[in-house]
Amino acid sequence: MEERTIQVDLCSTKKEKPKSDQLQFGKVFTDHMFIMDYSDPLGWHDARIVPYQPITIDPSAMIFHYGQSVFEGLKAYLSPEGEAQLFRPEKNMQRLNRSNDRLCIPPIDEEFALQAIKELVALERDWIPASEGTSLYIRPFVISTEPYIGVAPSRHYKFIIILSPVGAYYAEGINPVKIAVENHYVRTVKGGTGEAKTGGNYAASLKAQEMVANTGYAQVLWLDGVEKKYIEEVGSMNVFFKINGEVVTPALNGSILEGVTRNSVIQLLKHWNIPVAERRVSMEEIYQAGKDGLLEEAFGTGTAAVISPIGQLTWNDEHLYVNDGNTGTVAKRLYDTLTGIQYGKEKDPFGWIE
Ligand code: PMP
Repeated sequence: MEERTIQVDLCSTKKEKPKSDQLQFGKVFTDHMFIMDYSDPLGWHDARIVPYQPITIDPSAMIFHYGQSVFEGLKAYLSPEGEAQLFRPEKNMQRLNRSNDRLCIPPIDEEFALQAIKELVALERDWIPASEGTSLYIRPFVISTEPYIGVAPSRHYKFIIILSPVGAYYAEGINPVKIAVENHYVRTVKGGTGEAKTGGNYAASLKAQEMVANTGYAQVLWLDGVEKKYIEEVGSMNVFFKINGEVVTPALNGSILEGVTRNSVIQLLKHWNIPVAERRVSMEEIYQAGKDGLLEEAFGTGTAAVISPIGQLTWNDEHLYVNDGNTGTVAKRLYDTLTGIQYGKEKDPFGWIE
């Protein structure tokens, strides 16, 4: 039976909180963390909130060798009334279990995992920064801890939730970025682990990212791993294009991660009666639309940046400028609406806030 109570062990001294104009992404963690263990035949057990601290794991633990792990990423936002708000957190919990399933990790009770997030965030309420655009990043993750170096699903795991106050993604206003289309490396392939949020996908992406960063690009545009023809994602975001009045995004195909922001953007566009399609999108099509003057906007979507406009795309040494390198009107409207809902400054017609 799933455990419902969470033991709480409070820390004796609290850390100094960083000033909200000096926050970086993911470097400072709050005073407490949530942790829960899994073992056969007990199942998930011993749910507890404890002082944030290092954990001791055997060097032979499976996580260190074969990477059986999953994670999630979401944020708590402070409303004008000073309430902690979560944005569609049940979507992250569902995705956590889809990732668990792909990695042969036993499922976690989604309602209980959400309860754990809420209790931890409530305890760390004072860590949610208040300045414009700042938030408390929530990182739930599962690691395989069985001390065994055989290649097999682990029989022991830890589910941990840590929290990190993060700064505004756009300190100086929403800013279009330069993107390089990646023709050599691939992030994942259909049938691989791309639709799961697992560390290996991110390890696989580092090389390409490092190479383009050295030549002045913000991110890579990932193509499909088989034909290197169809667009998949941009950096660690989903990607959208507005072509001749219609917004298109690559259809989920088994190698694309289903973003919570992607899903919300599609719902908002439908709500606004802006034509939106999920389908295969080739790089050739985007290039041609650009040449024909029909490529009106391009942007990435994800929890970190919400909307990240693309101002320039480079493909085989050809530079394609989108909307003269400026933020498009649809991207701006999506950004303003989503952040408005997240920070409790706009109506929430879809019931996205918890
Ligand atoms: N794709 C990848 C590979 C990602 O890591 C993320 C971030 N989770 C996304 C897309 C965007 O997902 P979300 O909108 O849920 O943050």
